[in-house]
Amino acid sequence: MEYFSTNRKSPVVSFRQAVLNGQPPDKGLYFPRQIPSIDVENVCNKSPSEIAYEVIRPFVGGTIADEALFQICEQTVNFEFPLVKITDNTFVLELFHGATLAFKDVGARFMSRCLQHFSQQNAEKTIVIVATSGDTGGAVAAGFLGVENVEVVILYPSGKVSNVQELQLTTLGQNITALKVLGTFDDCQMMAKTALADEEIKQQVFITSANSINIARWLPQQFYYFFALQQWPENLPPVVSVPSGNFGNICAGLLAQASNLPIKKFIAATNANDVVPLFLKSGEMLTKSSIATLSNAMDVANPSNFARILELFGGNLDKLNRQMSAVSVSDETTAQTMREVYQKYNYILDPHGAVGFYALQQYLHQNPHDKGFFLATAHPVKFDSVKEILGTSGETPRAIEELLTRPGQSVEIKADYNDLKEILLSKI
Ligand SMILES: *Cc1c(COP(=O)(O)O)cnc(C)c1O
Repeated sequence: MEYFSTNRKSPVVSFRQAVLNGQPPDKGLYFPRQIPSIDVENVCNKSPSEIAYEVIRPFVGGTIADEALFQICEQTVNFEFPLVKITDNTFVLELFHGATLAFKDVGARFMSRCLQHFSQQNAEKTIVIVATSGDTGGAVAAGFLGVENVEVVILYPSGKVSNVQELQLTTLGQNITALKVLGTFDDCQMMAKTALADEEIKQQVFITSANSINIARWLPQQFYYFFALQQWPENLPPVVSVPSGNFGNICAGLLAQASNLPIKKFIAATNANDVVPLFLKSGEMLTKSSIATLSNAMDVANPSNFARILELFGGNLDKLNRQMSAVSVSDETTAQTMREVYQKYNYILDPHGAVGFYALQQYLHQNPHDKGFFLATAHPVKFDSVKEILGTSGETPRAIEELLTRPGQSVEIKADYNDLKEILLSKI
């Protein structure tokens, strides 16, 4: 499999090179040249590791030997992905049973192991830079902790991640440096992108990104949808609601659908950061700043992965509108949904899941013959707001209890690339 840049001004590369580059030199996004066609019935009869292996293998295109790839897959999906029924027509795919209690654990684990595999071949020091709106950083840090020859630098917006999220970034130490940026997530993302394109740094060290723009983070997210279909008890294909911020997860779902996975329709569930819902209505992509909301991991104003969605549909908006709708859900509705679902069904939603639940309910209300599931992208205990809204965030997992006793360590910097550059140069 080869990958081209969505900006079409960079050379076509292999999976290995695309993972190592992170982003193409023209600052587009890597996109696979072909969409594999998968024998879904056959694949869905297998174990999670086998499903992961079958789904990802064509994308890896032989750049990792089969045996090593299978091992990476086993280590990537070594936790549960249960599909739980909430109402007659609504199920939830719980993606929060991994190391840092968020769905990003899958992509982060897969990518860290791919990079480790490739770096064994070129024994060079690697800097992995990642901007996080909440969950990415912890998942990436946990995925890379103690990996030799790799320095991980995490940028997160000061005051905009939860207490637990911040501790997941700042308590690891070793090869993990957490930078608290006095700015927004978009500032963090911009600074990371600038570093990745900085020739002076690139001459001295191998630098790559672990954001969802890296194909090794993005592509494994397809697995969730196969795991869900494996457990889907209904006859008709499901409608799938995906809480979306940078749109990597939903784009992976659309890719799985394009490879034959039977999904009726996708709903992109966003918070007040609504450029995509507005775009689907008007065809115009507005430039906005990100707004802080209860679902902070989705506070993204310019979703990078939307370029991949457009690519998948060849820029045809009618086609896209048939496969995907988008809804913006306010904080007020999010909190109200959390209260209602807890009272009626005794199910604790985190704010991201609540956005997904509400968007799905709205759709099913208008389409009463359909059924669907939404993704619960993180555990409720990760968000301080859940306790404030519901009075409880359920049972605290042991790993989190332990985390709360540890002191965090971070370096505060301005939203200024020069501050970041100084720190990066000190790591070389
Ligand atoms: C990252 C994240 C999202 C958004 O996923 P994208 O792929 O960026 O759209 C949703 N919920 C949680 C909890 C997240 O961490």
